Amino acid sequence: MLRRAHGLLRFALLEEAPGIAHAFVPAAALGGYDATVPGALQQAARLVLGEGARVAATRQTHSRVVALACASAPAAAAEVDGLISAEPGLLLHAVSSDCPLLYLAAADARAVGIAHCGWRGIAAGIVEEALCRLREDLAVDPAELSAAVSPGAGGCCYEVGREVIEALAGAGVPIERCVNPERRTVDLKQAIRALLLAAGVPAQRIELARECTICGGDGFHSFRKSGAGVGRMSGLIGIRPR
Ligand SMILES: [Zn+2]
Repeated sequence: MLRRAHGLLRFALLEEAPGIAHAFVPAAALGGYDATVPGALQQAARLVLGEGARVAATRQTHSRVVALACASAPAAAAEVDGLISAEPGLLLHAVSSDCPLLYLAAADARAVGIAHCGWRGIAAGIVEEALCRLREDLAVDPAELSAAVSPGAGGCCYEVGREVIEALAGAGVPIERCVNPERRTVDLKQAIRALLLAAGVPAQRIELARECTICGGDGFHSFRKSGAGVGRMSGLIGIRPR
């Protein structure tokens, strides 16, 4: 269940995690939000982590690349669709205008992650890669994680071609649980959940936003609904300074 404060959306699961700060910033937030507008992201970051919040940003190309972020190199130099961090006071940032964003947090708040999970990224393996980087770089096992998936293109609306379904099936997504074969729609959030479960993230610590960005109204930016030039929403997660 998403909770709303100052127009920012927060997951109940992550709000209950001590030491973690996070938000999903929809189009309706802050009097009309678009992460590409100068100053907008900084305003959102201040609301999430207070004055002086530092932000590490992705450079998204629907890849499977996940990088370890640090405050001294806040912007990704090459294509990066996911970030992980163990640095308190640093907010990880990813953008979306239909693709679900995956938030990850270790139970003891010693590490966090975020990943941009459209169908291309999922098919390329970004969900598994984010979990792998957390385990190998920061020694966080999937069994220790809480995971949340942002509003995004929903199974109600997200029609895709056969090649998308084949690519997801080829990446190990259980198609029978994520695809409506009659309407040719795919539920990317359920696809992410299935991959998290298969990797060992506990079911009771996975939260999926119900909201669909395509039919969810003006509160969300949707590339599918509005086409090129649509604004970008933000996902932010970080470790609170101790
Ligand atoms: Zn929908």
